Amino acid sequence: MMQRPHSSRGIEGIPAAGIPLLQVTELKTYFHTRDAVLRAVDGVSFSIDSGEVVGLVGESGSGKSMTGFSLLGLVDPPGRIEGGSIRLRGRELVGLTAGEWRSIRGREIAMVFQDPMATLNPLLTIGEQIRLAINAHERVGRQAARDRGIEVLNRVGIPEASRRLDAWPHQLSGGMRQRVAIAIALLHRPALIVADEPTTALDVSIQAQILAEVQTLVRELGTALLWISHDLATVSALASRLLVMYAGRIVEEGPCATVLREPRHPYTRGLLMSMPQFARPGEQLAQIPGAPPALSALPQGCAFAPRCQQASAQCQAAAPERQAQPSDLNSTVSRTGVRAWRCYHPLG
Ligand code: ADP
Ligand code: MG
Repeated sequence: MMQRPHSSRGIEGIPAAGIPLLQVTELKTYFHTRDAVLRAVDGVSFSIDSGEVVGLVGESGSGKSMTGFSLLGLVDPPGRIEGGSIRLRGRELVGLTAGEWRSIRGREIAMVFQDPMATLNPLLTIGEQIRLAINAHERVGRQAARDRGIEVLNRVGIPEASRRLDAWPHQLSGGMRQRVAIAIALLHRPALIVADEPTTALDVSIQAQILAEVQTLVRELGTALLWISHDLATVSALASRLLVMYAGRIVEEGPCATVLREPRHPYTRGLLMSMPQFARPGEQLAQIPGAPPALSALPQGCAFAPRCQQASAQCQAAAPERQAQPSDLNSTVSRTGVRAWRCYHPLG
C-alpha cells in the first residue's frame, strides 16, 4: 500500500545529490498588527536531510509554531511570509498559490498539531476522516481506503483498528486521538513531518509512549521529522540535531549531544540548568530570570541580553551575527550538522 518513493529522490525519481530535503534560508514571517510589525520569525535558516530528526526548542512565544506553519503554507493574515526561501528538494515553496500548497500539504510535508482536534473533524468518524485525507491526493475506493485506514492505525499502535474506524473522535482518549492525527500525517508517506508540541497536552506516560512510537515510525519509514517543543527534555530524547529559538531567531544549533554537553549560548545553558535531567551534580537548578521580551518591544541589541549574566555593552548595542564553529565553515559533510550560535560571549 504505502510505497510512494521519497527520501533522497529528486523530482523525476533521480536522487537529488547534495540538495538537502528542506533548505530554509533567512525566513521572515511577520505579523502586521495595528500598532506594530511583529517579527515572529526573523531571518531563520536551517536545513533538514532526508530521514533526519531535528528538534526546534524554545520558550513559548519564540516563533516555533510560526516557523512550522510557514513550512506548510499555513500562515494566515495578519501574518505573512515576508522574505526568505523554503526549498523542498530544491523547489521554492515561498510564493506558491493556495492550490499548489494544497498539493504539497499532507503529501510531501505533513503536520501534527498540539491539539489533535485541529486535524480531526468532530462530526466525522475516524474512517471517514482517513478516507477524506487519502482522497485529498489520490482516488481510492471505500474498501481500499478502509484497508489503508486499518494499516495506518495499526502502525501507530491503535488496537482493534477496524472497530476504531467507526468511532467518532469524542469516543477516543486524548492519546488515541493524537495517534489518529499522527496516522493521518503518515497516510501519504510525506518526506517531512512537522510535529508541533504533539505530546504537550498528554499525560507524561502517554507522552513517553507516543514519543517512542514516533521514533520507531520515522526510522522505519525514513521520514524526516521537525519536532517542535518548549520542552528540551522531550526534544532531546528524539532529535539528532537541535535548533534553539529565542525571540524569532535561532540562537544556537548543533548535534543534540554536543549542544547538551557544551551549550555555547547562555540561553541554551539556562534551559539546561532549569531541567533536573541535565543539571550537573551539585549544581543548583535555576530558572532563567525574567521573561522573553514582547516582540513589540525588542531590545536594540541581543534579545536575550536583559536576562543574561554575561551581557556586556556590546550586547546591548547590536544583535550578534550567527557564528559557526571554525571547523564547520568550509565543511560540506557537516552541512546539516553545523555548530553555530549567535552570541558575543559564547560559553567555553
Ligand atoms: P511559539 O510556538 O514558539 O510559542 P509562535 O510561533 O506561536 O510561538 O508565536 C510567535 C510570536 O508570534 C508570538 O510571540 C506572537 O507575538 C506572534 N503571534 C503569533 N500569532 C499571532 C497572531 N495571530 N497575531 C499577532 N501576533 C501573533
Ligand atoms: Mg507554539
